[in-house]
Amino acid sequence: MDCLFCTIVAGEIPAEEIYRDADAIAIVDVNPQAPKHLLVLPRKHYATVTEIVDGGDEALLGHIVAVATKLARDVGSRGFRLVVNTGTDGGQTVDHVHVHVLAGRRMTWPPG
Ligand code: 5GP
Ligand code: ZN
Repeated sequence: MDCLFCTIVAGEIPAEEIYRDADAIAIVDVNPQAPKHLLVLPRKHYATVTEIVDGGDEALLGHIVAVATKLARDVGSRGFRLVVNTGTDGGQTVDHVHVHVLAGRRMTWPPG
């Protein structure tokens, strides 16, 4: 298995896991960019959201966004940001889909 997040989903390397259901898990980002920084990832491996859509699994895409929203609501009462970096230009560094949940500070726009 050569996917970092698949390894985390399998419990083979440690992560601070804060949520798990049949289809997704949420972990604390190891390099937080906000006071609260979580990652929501599907348990099934897809490299990108494009792959999920091409695979016809829009329910899974909706699920991970819904989980991210519920967790964000819990940690970001004054608002939050959900981010899905995709591909090289999108700044994606781990090729297993994940939704960033950022909260706990005022975000700026535009992003870098
Ligand atoms: P991307 O750049 O692909 O949008 O986001 C990857 C995220 O994964 C980064 O925010 C990075 O800090 C996080 N990350 C990378 N390796 C690990 C790890 O081993 N454990 C955890 N919890 N987060 C990681
Ligand atoms: Zn994976």
